[in-house]
Amino acid sequence: MAAITLKDIVKQYGDGFLAVKGVSLDIADGEFVILVGPSGCGKSTLLRMIVGLEDITAGDLHIGGKRVNDKAPRDRHLAMVFQNYALYPHLTVFENIAFPLRLQKGQFTDAQIKEKVEFAAKTLELQDHLDRKPANLSGGQRQRVAMGRAIVREAEAFLFDEPLSNLDAKLRGQMRTEIARMQRRLGTTTVYVTHDQTEAMTLGDRVAVLRKGELQQVASPRGLYEQP
Ligand code: ADP
Ligand code: ADP
Repeated sequence: MAAITLKDIVKQYGDGFLAVKGVSLDIADGEFVILVGPSGCGKSTLLRMIVGLEDITAGDLHIGGKRVNDKAPRDRHLAMVFQNYALYPHLTVFENIAFPLRLQKGQFTDAQIKEKVEFAAKTLELQDHLDRKPANLSGGQRQRVAMGRAIVREAEAFLFDEPLSNLDAKLRGQMRTEIARMQRRLGTTTVYVTHDQTEAMTLGDRVAVLRKGELQQVASPRGLYEQP
Protein backbone atom coordinates (compact mmCIF):
# COMPACT_ATOMS: atom_id res chain seq x y z
CA MET A 1 0.00 0.00 0.00
CA ALA A 2 1.21 3.45 -0.76
CA ALA A 3 0.31 7.08 -1.04
CA ILE A 4 0.08 8.50 -4.56
CA THR A 5 1.09 12.11 -5.17
CA LEU A 6 0.45 13.99 -8.40
CA LYS A 7 2.20 17.33 -8.80
CA ASP A 8 1.39 19.58 -11.77
CA ILE A 9 0.85 16.58 -14.04
CA VAL A 10 0.51 17.51 -17.71
CA LYS A 11 -0.31 15.35 -20.73
CA GLN A 12 0.15 16.66 -24.23
CA TYR A 13 -0.57 14.10 -26.93
CA GLY A 14 1.56 13.77 -30.06
CA ASP A 15 -0.89 15.86 -32.07
CA GLY A 16 -0.44 18.74 -29.62
CA PHE A 17 -3.71 18.22 -27.75
CA LEU A 18 -3.47 19.11 -24.04
CA ALA A 19 -5.53 16.37 -22.37
CA VAL A 20 -4.35 17.04 -18.77
CA LYS A 21 -3.39 20.59 -17.83
CA GLY A 22 -1.48 20.54 -14.55
CA VAL A 23 -3.24 18.28 -12.07
CA SER A 24 -2.09 18.12 -8.43
CA LEU A 25 -3.59 15.68 -5.96
CA ASP A 26 -2.40 13.96 -2.78
CA ILE A 27 -3.93 10.54 -2.26
CA ALA A 28 -3.29 9.16 1.20
CA ASP A 29 -2.18 5.61 1.93
CA GLY A 30 -5.36 3.52 2.05
CA GLU A 31 -7.58 6.25 0.67
CA PHE A 32 -10.34 5.55 -1.89
CA VAL A 33 -10.52 8.40 -4.41
CA ILE A 34 -13.12 8.62 -7.16
CA LEU A 35 -12.21 10.47 -10.33
CA VAL A 36 -15.29 11.79 -12.15
CA GLY A 37 -16.01 14.06 -15.06
CA PRO A 38 -17.67 14.12 -18.46
CA SER A 39 -16.46 12.00 -21.34
CA GLY A 40 -13.22 13.35 -22.80
CA CYS A 41 -12.15 15.32 -19.69
CA GLY A 42 -8.95 13.28 -19.31
CA LYS A 43 -9.86 10.63 -16.70
CA SER A 44 -8.42 7.66 -18.57
CA THR A 45 -5.36 9.62 -19.61
CA LEU A 46 -4.64 10.46 -15.97
CA LEU A 47 -5.14 6.88 -14.84
CA ARG A 48 -2.97 5.54 -17.65
CA MET A 49 -0.18 7.95 -16.67
CA ILE A 50 -0.37 6.74 -13.07
CA VAL A 51 -0.14 3.08 -14.09
CA GLY A 52 2.60 3.86 -16.64
CA LEU A 53 0.78 3.04 -19.87
CA GLU A 54 1.11 6.65 -21.03
CA ASP A 55 4.13 8.98 -20.75
CA ILE A 56 3.86 11.99 -18.46
CA THR A 57 4.64 15.17 -20.42
CA ALA A 58 5.45 17.29 -17.35
CA GLY A 59 5.06 17.17 -13.58
CA ASP A 60 5.96 14.63 -10.89
CA LEU A 61 4.31 11.38 -9.94
CA HIS A 62 5.28 9.79 -6.62
CA ILE A 63 4.11 6.39 -5.43
CA GLY A 64 5.05 5.41 -1.89
CA GLY A 65 7.37 8.42 -1.71
CA LYS A 66 9.35 7.48 -4.84
CA ARG A 67 9.28 9.39 -8.10
CA VAL A 68 8.08 6.93 -10.72
CA ASN A 69 7.71 9.08 -13.87
CA ASP A 70 10.32 7.03 -15.69
CA LYS A 71 9.52 3.64 -14.20
CA ALA A 72 8.04 0.85 -16.30
CA PRO A 73 4.52 -0.31 -15.36
CA ARG A 74 5.83 -3.51 -13.81
CA ASP A 75 8.05 -1.51 -11.43
CA ARG A 76 5.17 0.60 -10.13
CA HIS A 77 3.47 -2.37 -8.46
CA LEU A 78 -0.05 -1.23 -9.23
CA ALA A 79 -3.05 -3.32 -10.21
CA MET A 80 -5.40 -2.01 -12.85
CA VAL A 81 -8.92 -3.37 -13.36
CA PHE A 82 -10.42 -2.51 -16.74
CA GLN A 83 -14.06 -2.54 -17.82
CA ASN A 84 -13.42 -5.36 -20.26
CA TYR A 85 -12.05 -7.76 -17.70
CA ALA A 86 -10.16 -9.93 -20.17
CA LEU A 87 -10.38 -13.37 -18.59
CA TYR A 88 -8.89 -16.41 -20.28
CA PRO A 89 -11.86 -18.53 -21.41
CA HIS A 90 -9.92 -21.81 -21.41
CA LEU A 91 -8.64 -21.35 -17.84
CA THR A 92 -10.53 -22.04 -14.62
CA VAL A 93 -11.30 -19.29 -12.13
CA PHE A 94 -8.36 -20.52 -10.03
CA GLU A 95 -5.94 -20.29 -12.98
CA ASN A 96 -7.32 -16.93 -14.09
CA ILE A 97 -6.64 -15.50 -10.65
CA ALA A 98 -3.25 -17.25 -10.41
CA PHE A 99 -2.17 -15.95 -13.83
CA PRO A 100 -0.19 -12.85 -12.71
CA LEU A 101 1.71 -15.03 -10.22
CA ARG A 102 2.55 -17.68 -12.82
CA LEU A 103 3.95 -14.89 -15.06
CA GLN A 104 6.57 -14.15 -12.42
CA LYS A 105 8.30 -17.43 -13.13
CA GLY A 106 9.90 -19.18 -10.21
CA GLN A 107 8.94 -16.51 -7.72
CA PHE A 108 6.18 -18.48 -6.04
CA THR A 109 5.79 -22.14 -5.13
CA ASP A 110 2.54 -23.91 -6.00
CA ALA A 111 1.63 -23.85 -2.31
CA GLN A 112 2.16 -20.08 -2.14
CA ILE A 113 0.08 -19.57 -5.27
CA LYS A 114 -2.69 -21.73 -3.82
CA GLU A 115 -2.65 -19.74 -0.60
CA LYS A 116 -2.80 -16.37 -2.38
CA VAL A 117 -5.55 -17.45 -4.78
CA GLU A 118 -7.61 -18.90 -1.95
CA PHE A 119 -7.23 -15.71 0.08
CA ALA A 120 -8.43 -13.64 -2.89
CA ALA A 121 -11.29 -16.06 -3.56
CA LYS A 122 -12.38 -15.86 0.07
CA THR A 123 -12.25 -12.06 0.07
CA LEU A 124 -14.47 -12.05 -3.03
CA GLU A 125 -16.65 -15.02 -2.08
CA LEU A 126 -15.51 -17.04 -5.05
CA GLN A 127 -14.40 -20.11 -3.06
CA ASP A 128 -17.12 -22.31 -4.52
CA HIS A 129 -16.37 -21.37 -8.12
CA LEU A 130 -12.62 -21.96 -8.40
CA ASP A 131 -12.97 -24.91 -10.81
CA ARG A 132 -15.40 -23.22 -13.19
CA LYS A 133 -14.66 -21.53 -16.51
CA PRO A 134 -15.54 -17.86 -17.18
CA ALA A 135 -18.30 -18.82 -19.65
CA ASN A 136 -20.23 -20.42 -16.80
CA LEU A 137 -20.09 -17.39 -14.51
CA SER A 138 -22.39 -14.41 -14.14
CA GLY A 139 -21.15 -10.95 -15.12
CA GLY A 140 -20.65 -10.06 -11.48
CA GLN A 141 -18.65 -13.21 -10.81
CA ARG A 142 -16.43 -12.48 -13.81
CA GLN A 143 -15.84 -9.00 -12.49
CA ARG A 144 -14.82 -10.51 -9.16
CA VAL A 145 -12.35 -12.85 -10.88
CA ALA A 146 -10.78 -9.77 -12.49
CA MET A 147 -10.53 -8.18 -9.06
CA GLY A 148 -9.05 -11.41 -7.69
CA ARG A 149 -6.20 -10.97 -10.13
CA ALA A 150 -5.59 -7.51 -8.75
CA ILE A 151 -5.63 -8.82 -5.18
CA VAL A 152 -3.05 -11.60 -5.70
CA ARG A 153 -0.61 -9.05 -7.12
CA GLU A 154 -0.48 -7.52 -3.63
CA ALA A 155 -0.29 -4.19 -5.34
CA GLU A 156 0.57 -0.82 -3.83
CA ALA A 157 -2.72 0.48 -5.16
CA PHE A 158 -5.77 -0.49 -7.21
CA LEU A 159 -6.74 1.52 -10.25
CA PHE A 160 -10.22 0.99 -11.67
CA ASP A 161 -11.22 2.32 -15.09
CA GLU A 162 -15.03 2.29 -15.23
CA PRO A 163 -15.11 -1.35 -14.19
CA LEU A 164 -18.90 -1.59 -13.98
CA SER A 165 -19.98 0.24 -17.11
CA ASN A 166 -20.80 -2.98 -18.99
CA LEU A 167 -23.07 -4.39 -16.28
CA ASP A 168 -26.81 -3.94 -15.88
CA ALA A 169 -28.14 -1.62 -13.16
CA LYS A 170 -28.90 -4.31 -10.59
CA LEU A 171 -25.52 -5.96 -10.90
CA ARG A 172 -23.80 -2.58 -10.83
CA GLY A 173 -25.37 -1.87 -7.45
CA GLN A 174 -24.26 -5.23 -6.13
CA MET A 175 -20.71 -4.83 -7.41
CA ARG A 176 -20.48 -1.33 -5.99
CA THR A 177 -21.16 -2.72 -2.54
CA GLU A 178 -18.65 -5.45 -3.12
CA ILE A 179 -15.86 -3.18 -4.31
CA ALA A 180 -16.40 -0.88 -1.33
CA ARG A 181 -16.30 -3.85 1.04
CA MET A 182 -13.18 -5.30 -0.58
CA GLN A 183 -11.37 -1.97 -0.42
CA ARG A 184 -12.23 -1.56 3.26
CA ARG A 185 -11.19 -5.08 4.09
CA LEU A 186 -7.83 -4.79 2.32
CA GLY A 187 -7.23 -1.10 3.01
CA THR A 188 -5.51 -0.69 -0.37
CA THR A 189 -5.12 2.79 -1.84
CA THR A 190 -7.64 3.01 -4.68
CA VAL A 191 -8.28 5.36 -7.60
CA TYR A 192 -11.58 4.69 -9.32
CA VAL A 193 -12.61 6.35 -12.57
CA THR A 194 -16.29 6.64 -13.41
CA HIS A 195 -18.80 8.92 -15.05
CA ASP A 196 -21.60 7.41 -12.92
CA GLN A 197 -22.90 9.87 -10.31
CA THR A 198 -24.13 7.14 -7.95
CA GLU A 199 -20.73 5.48 -7.92
CA ALA A 200 -19.09 8.84 -7.32
CA MET A 201 -21.37 9.65 -4.39
CA THR A 202 -21.35 6.26 -2.66
CA LEU A 203 -17.98 4.59 -3.14
CA GLY A 204 -15.11 6.75 -2.10
CA ASP A 205 -13.60 8.80 0.68
CA ARG A 206 -13.12 11.74 -1.69
CA VAL A 207 -14.33 12.72 -5.12
CA ALA A 208 -12.07 14.56 -7.58
CA VAL A 209 -13.94 16.30 -10.38
CA LEU A 210 -12.02 16.66 -13.62
CA ARG A 211 -13.14 19.04 -16.34
CA LYS A 212 -11.33 19.72 -19.60
CA GLY A 213 -8.09 18.38 -18.17
CA GLU A 214 -8.22 20.39 -14.94
CA LEU A 215 -9.25 19.45 -11.41
CA GLN A 216 -12.30 21.51 -10.69
CA GLN A 217 -13.02 20.32 -7.19
CA VAL A 218 -11.86 17.75 -4.64
CA ALA A 219 -14.19 17.03 -1.75
CA SER A 220 -15.84 14.33 0.33
CA PRO A 221 -19.01 13.03 -1.37
CA ARG A 222 -21.08 14.97 1.14
CA GLY A 223 -19.02 18.13 0.71
CA LEU A 224 -19.49 17.89 -3.01
CA TYR A 225 -23.25 17.58 -2.62
CA GLU A 226 -23.48 20.60 -0.35
CA GLN A 227 -21.62 22.90 -2.70
CA PRO A 228 -23.72 24.25 -5.56
P1 ADP B 1 -12.02 10.42 -20.52
O1 ADP B 1 -11.39 9.19 -19.99
O2 ADP B 1 -12.33 11.42 -19.47
O3 ADP B 1 -13.21 10.14 -21.39
P2 ADP B 1 -9.61 10.58 -22.11
O4 ADP B 1 -8.52 10.65 -21.12
O5 ADP B 1 -9.88 9.29 -22.78
O6 ADP B 1 -10.95 11.13 -21.47
O7 ADP B 1 -9.34 11.65 -23.24
C1 ADP B 1 -9.09 13.02 -22.92
C2 ADP B 1 -8.90 13.81 -24.19
O8 ADP B 1 -7.68 13.42 -24.82
C3 ADP B 1 -10.00 13.60 -25.20
O9 ADP B 1 -10.30 14.84 -25.80
C4 ADP B 1 -9.39 12.65 -26.20
O10 ADP B 1 -9.94 12.85 -27.48
C5 ADP B 1 -7.92 13.02 -26.15
N1 ADP B 1 -7.08 11.86 -26.45
C6 ADP B 1 -7.11 10.64 -25.86
N2 ADP B 1 -6.18 9.83 -26.37
C7 ADP B 1 -5.54 10.56 -27.33
C8 ADP B 1 -4.45 10.29 -28.24
N3 ADP B 1 -3.83 9.11 -28.26
N4 ADP B 1 -4.07 11.28 -29.06
C9 ADP B 1 -4.67 12.49 -29.04
N5 ADP B 1 -5.69 12.81 -28.21
C10 ADP B 1 -6.11 11.86 -27.38
P1 ADP C 1 4.97 -9.55 -20.02
O1 ADP C 1 6.02 -8.77 -19.31
O2 ADP C 1 5.27 -11.02 -20.03
O3 ADP C 1 4.57 -9.00 -21.36
P2 ADP C 1 2.51 -8.44 -19.06
O4 ADP C 1 2.47 -7.61 -20.30
O5 ADP C 1 1.26 -9.17 -18.66
O6 ADP C 1 3.69 -9.50 -19.08
O7 ADP C 1 2.90 -7.53 -17.85
C1 ADP C 1 4.04 -6.75 -17.87
C2 ADP C 1 4.05 -5.96 -16.59
O8 ADP C 1 3.00 -5.01 -16.65
C3 ADP C 1 3.77 -6.84 -15.39
O9 ADP C 1 4.95 -7.30 -14.78
C4 ADP C 1 2.99 -5.96 -14.49
O10 ADP C 1 3.78 -5.31 -13.53
C5 ADP C 1 2.36 -4.95 -15.42
N1 ADP C 1 0.94 -5.28 -15.55
C6 ADP C 1 0.35 -6.22 -16.30
N2 ADP C 1 -0.98 -6.23 -16.14
C7 ADP C 1 -1.23 -5.25 -15.26
C8 ADP C 1 -2.40 -4.76 -14.65
N3 ADP C 1 -3.61 -5.26 -14.89
N4 ADP C 1 -2.26 -3.74 -13.80
C9 ADP C 1 -1.07 -3.21 -13.53
N5 ADP C 1 0.07 -3.62 -14.06
C10 ADP C 1 -0.01 -4.64 -14.90
